[in-house]
Amino acid sequence: MSDPAWLTEGLAHLWMPYSQMRTALPPLPVVGTDGVRIELADGRKLIDGLASWWTACHGYNHPHITTAIRRQAETLPHVMFAGLAHEPAAKLAARLAKLLPGDLERVFFCDSGSVAVEVALKMAVQFWLNQGQTGRNKFVAFRHGYHGDTMGCMAVSDTEDEDAMHVLFRGYIPEHLICDLPVGRAAEVAFDSLLAGERGRIAGVIVEPLVQGAGGMKLHAPEVLKAISDACARHGVLLILDEIATGFGRTGSMFACEQAGITPDILCLSKALTGGSIGLGATVASRRVFEAFLSDDPHKALMHGPTFMANPLACAAANASLDLFEREPRLQQVAAIESHLREALAPCRSLPGVADVRAKGAIGVIQLEEMKGLNWLRERFVQEGLWLRPFADIVYCTPSFTMERADLARLTDGMVKVVTEWSKKF
Ligand SMILES: *Cc1c(COP(=O)(O)O)cnc(C)c1O
Repeated sequence: MSDPAWLTEGLAHLWMPYSQMRTALPPLPVVGTDGVRIELADGRKLIDGLASWWTACHGYNHPHITTAIRRQAETLPHVMFAGLAHEPAAKLAARLAKLLPGDLERVFFCDSGSVAVEVALKMAVQFWLNQGQTGRNKFVAFRHGYHGDTMGCMAVSDTEDEDAMHVLFRGYIPEHLICDLPVGRAAEVAFDSLLAGERGRIAGVIVEPLVQGAGGMKLHAPEVLKAISDACARHGVLLILDEIATGFGRTGSMFACEQAGITPDILCLSKALTGGSIGLGATVASRRVFEAFLSDDPHKALMHGPTFMANPLACAAANASLDLFEREPRLQQVAAIESHLREALAPCRSLPGVADVRAKGAIGVIQLEEMKGLNWLRERFVQEGLWLRPFADIVYCTPSFTMERADLARLTDGMVKVVTEWSKKF
């Protein structure tokens, strides 16, 4: 069947993300979503192995979330959030504060993950300025880290690696201290002495806890996170956790930081916050960070306020998503997915061209020695009825937590089948 006219006509005017527009496969026309499936214009239904970039944790079109959005749309779809507040945002802030560890209790809403990180960086810099400490405007961030595509976010993502996403923009973006994750005793000592030596210039350390996502789905142990947190505390440097991808159960606990028993000074949320329905981001500050902004001096206020911050539709969706986490056994589902992924993907480990196979929570990763035949891989998955999007040197899945066993088996069988073919062909 040929593509619908809207696609053919619109494609002349669309600029797609992360795509070399000359060689990229044309996007598939989607006409609907349901549960864990994406319906294409020709009637095919693909099992979504990605939950739309980690977001649709309860599957698509969950009736509880859809109803919440519809009801909200009828009474208060949007209102500016300066000088005005509404129940969906107030409730959501209180619920997030209760769910998050320690005294992470002040929620600043925005509309995306990147903006949540930008706000966190501004908060950290101004935290020191408000206390008269000038010159603390550098961040320590990590190799293989990814924190978003806007200016501040690019600057704390990996810009050292020659293959890293934002390498072109060196020289345009501010320079920070990008180092290896402190894995092992020697690296811990090196990390500690970096903070000790540079603390006068450092505003904070930013890290994706347990899983570095877009930088290659690299995992690290809770002990590594704990070591980072301890070093920050020892040297009086703020710790920012980017839980945009890991938040809301993805790694097996509600938030990844729980597995290390740590509480950061600032924590960023987005992606699964609304169960994948509407864009929303949040930057959550500890009491100490918030209190550094309290003053009779108006210049000590946080000067940030996205036009669509705390959009009521998005907040209503997020509240509905949190209801589902309360009512349904999401974390048990994630645990079951993790053991399935471990077992089902293991056969890939011995294939020529495969460097590593790993799983954490509802994240399964097959790392290749080298990416070859990227478009071939992408097309083969679609032929198998799967929606997956290999990138860099990895084939990965981040399914919805509600994916049933049979669909999960089809997903992993398809991954093993296609990677086995790939291994023979390339
Ligand atoms: C996706 C992501 C972001 C950026 O979020 P956007 O909503 O795409 O701006 C930032 N940090 C991490 C860890 C992410 O996975």
